[in-house]
Amino acid sequence: MQNLWTDKEAALFPGDLAQRVYTSRLVGRDKTLVLHGGGNTSVKIRERSILGDEEDVLYVKGSGRDLEAIDEAGFSPVRLDHLLRLAVLPTLSDPEMLNEMVTHMTRASAPVPSVETILHAVLPHKYVDHTHADALLAVTNTRDGDRRIAEIYGRDVVVIPYVMPGFELAKSCAELFRKQAHAGTIGIVLLKHGIFSFGATARESYDRMIDLVGRAERYLESQGAWALRCDGDDERGSLSRSAIASLRQHVSETAGNPMVMRSVRDSHAMSFVRRKDVGVVSQLGPATPDHVIRTKRVPMLGRDTVGYAASYRKYFADHAAGAARNLATLDPAPRIILDAELGMCAIGRTAKDAGIAADIYEHTMDIIGRATLLGGYDALPASDIFAMEYWDLEQAKLRSGAKPAMFAGEVTVVTGAASGIGRACVEAMLARGAAVVGVDVNPQIESVPERADFLGVRGDLTSPETIGRALDEATRAYGGVDMLIVNAGIFSDGARIADLDGAAWRRTMDVNLDASMMLLRESHPLLTMAPRGGRVVVIGSKNVPAPGPGAAAYSASKAALTQLARVAALEWGVDNIRVNILHPNAVFDTAVWTEEVLKARASQYGQTVEEYRKSNVLRTEVSSRDVAELAAEMCGPLFSKTTGAQLPVDGGNMRVI
Ligand code: ZN
Repeated sequence: MQNLWTDKEAALFPGDLAQRVYTSRLVGRDKTLVLHGGGNTSVKIRERSILGDEEDVLYVKGSGRDLEAIDEAGFSPVRLDHLLRLAVLPTLSDPEMLNEMVTHMTRASAPVPSVETILHAVLPHKYVDHTHADALLAVTNTRDGDRRIAEIYGRDVVVIPYVMPGFELAKSCAELFRKQAHAGTIGIVLLKHGIFSFGATARESYDRMIDLVGRAERYLESQGAWALRCDGDDERGSLSRSAIASLRQHVSETAGNPMVMRSVRDSHAMSFVRRKDVGVVSQLGPATPDHVIRTKRVPMLGRDTVGYAASYRKYFADHAAGAARNLATLDPAPRIILDAELGMCAIGRTAKDAGIAADIYEHTMDIIGRATLLGGYDALPASDIFAMEYWDLEQAKLRSGAKPAMFAGEVTVVTGAASGIGRACVEAMLARGAAVVGVDVNPQIESVPERADFLGVRGDLTSPETIGRALDEATRAYGGVDMLIVNAGIFSDGARIADLDGAAWRRTMDVNLDASMMLLRESHPLLTMAPRGGRVVVIGSKNVPAPGPGAAAYSASKAALTQLARVAALEWGVDNIRVNILHPNAVFDTAVWTEEVLKARASQYGQTVEEYRKSNVLRTEVSSRDVAELAAEMCGPLFSKTTGAQLPVDGGNMRVI
């Protein structure tokens, strides 16, 4: 465990709440302590209300907030006195608890407080930190975990047997704490769940968390249960695109909507999926209960999605019968798949969700590995995990309120993605919820700020290697290709046929036509496995219906590309792949239209550059964004019955109309 506190950084956070923000971020920065919205922290502050009354306010992390990125507004201020009075009630239902917390905040715009708020309230310390530390879970998630915890911590912590988070946990913590805590108590261990530390200052509470978890790490080391064997091969370099896309197709069918699937095949994951005992140790349950909403209770072994769905339905039926209220089953598709060939595959409704599932399982593999070395991994019974999975307060974390985006769970490849129409297509697709792989020869494509739903691939599309790599990346990161926007193109002539340079002609054909043919051919197997059917939009040109003098190579290449796309529409209809063509004109915010080309073209028509820009029927300018929005919509439900169509985006052209 590394203590990340520095006085210099801490000085930038003056005040009780700011100090709370600082050490919450330190906790969040260490992924072996908390992951993606896991864990929570609080501080109790005495404040004066608008009426001049002094009152104690508990600032507790907002539900689902990420500790690493939290700020003051991410904490919910709840009146402490009210929480303490709630804590002694004999019972409090979840909706009642939620209502009481939300109606006793001192700031209306604050987030909904953490489900563990009352527990923070009953601990008589100013600062409280709670994590699901990997090392602690590796120790408690064994058959004799309680004995080991006693061995590690002696009387320094109060140990609480597993109780589901919420009101009951707060009550049992309050009671055991009252009975067992003494002046030297610095934390609470919640068996098979996590750990609390507390203190008079943010630093003291944080230091104690690092100390307590560090002791668990050293214990694992002393028991020969720290170093994990990593003997799997790193197989990131090779993958079967069709096997992965087919698996994702079946998972999406089972889920009832398209899902993103990330396949992890580094040596760490390959070691785990090829463990001899993987069929046993992976099927016992998650390391801490709130992981269930991201990973489901158990991963799927191999590729039998039908079998997995059947056993999920049985698990639901077995446990829902005893539930107090009527429950609706969640989709029965897996969120983690362990396959000896495909590695560890993580699934989510969006690329971000798949990434969260992958991160959680990366840590779970280590926890299982260490607990096994310690004598045997053990998890909570299925009934406890079910109660958490179907706990409404937990499900609320997954509901963002808005309905899923148009292309949630779908994957798009865009070529020529670094600038102009291609870049606008990337933005239009991301805005509609798709995960996007952008390909471009321009190195800028790799310098886009890192985000889970975008991947830049640099390369020349005239090389089969680039095409293979782009499709490999799309498959590895997201599980396949559903939509393809064929946009990359060059405009290199500006010479009349009599003066046409052979090399320039050839290059135009290579990029605009041959590379597009190769890309279509290589993408076809993936497009056939798109959960909602494949969609292709080819960016043609006004020059197809209305060619211009001095643009022979460009016009001929785009005309041939259009014809290629029409044949694809004919051939691929049977595979449920739609292929449509856009013919933009006079889109001047693209790489093709340099100032020189603009001048040259304008003079061909005897116009000024300004006249040339708006020389269309509507006298309007056409932007990359106009083209991209239409390209994205052509992949959506609006055009679901349309294939082989050619649509102008040109402000109206006299020669085309
Ligand atoms: Zn917790």
